[in-house]
Amino acid sequence: MQLILMGPPGAGKGTQAANLVKKFGIPHISTGDMFRAAVAEGTELGKQAKACMDAGKLVPDDVTIGIVRERLSKDDCKKGFILDGFPRTVEQADALNKILDELGLQLTRVLNIHVPAEDLIERAVGRRICKGCGATYHVKFNPTKVEGTCDNCGGELYQRKDDNEATMKNRLSVYEASTKPLIDYYSKAGLYTQIDGRQSIEKVTDDLSRVLSSVG
Ligand code: ADP
Ligand code: AMP
Repeated sequence: MQLILMGPPGAGKGTQAANLVKKFGIPHISTGDMFRAAVAEGTELGKQAKACMDAGKLVPDDVTIGIVRERLSKDDCKKGFILDGFPRTVEQADALNKILDELGLQLTRVLNIHVPAEDLIERAVGRRICKGCGATYHVKFNPTKVEGTCDNCGGELYQRKDDNEATMKNRLSVYEASTKPLIDYYSKAGLYTQIDGRQSIEKVTDDLSRVLSSVG
């Protein structure tokens, strides 16, 4: 299964991808996670990405397309993958079509987790991530049992630098201008399904799984 999980920042893509990885055993490819890892390692890529991420802007298409091309060429993607946070522009979507053609693969489905704009800032500002295993929590909607400590691995939680109200406003306007047009793009390609992301995490996973069992 070659899947794209779409949706505005904070919609629940990473949370749902983690659940789908458990169910389907295919890799989760998040361009945001790849950029954050590069920033933490202080690589050249990280240096290029950091200023864009901190400002809530997109990293340039050529850089982003390059890392996705490299990642999708790895052997573990032969059995399928879940793309999260890519593509985010029409140029990236066109490039993805080309990459998949070259690899002899086709998209199975594009699943959009729909959450209204008014809920997204609260979701992002309350998001906490484990430094150890990367698990995602929310201070109100999905809290850990012990405050500040990961339920899975006991790791310490942190807050992303771009998860503040001002940067989220920029990220949401970038989403509206550059990423939302992909809804039409993938609808025209007959690949698009929308899921109601305002439901509980478990219910969203059920809805996604139901769609996937009918197409996979
Ligand atoms: P994205 O990857 O789309 O940016 P995340 O999966 O990181 O979004 O989720 C953003 C925040 O919202 C996290 O703190 C997460 O725990 C929380 N969240 C995810 N799904 C739901 C949901 N269905 N209801 C309430 N909160 C959610
Ligand atoms: P995310 O983790 O998906 O919320 O992404 C965090 C940040 O990484 C974004 O605000 C962008 O700065 C950058 N980023 C992630 N994916 C992409 C992409 N496909 N294109 C451009 N920038 C991206």
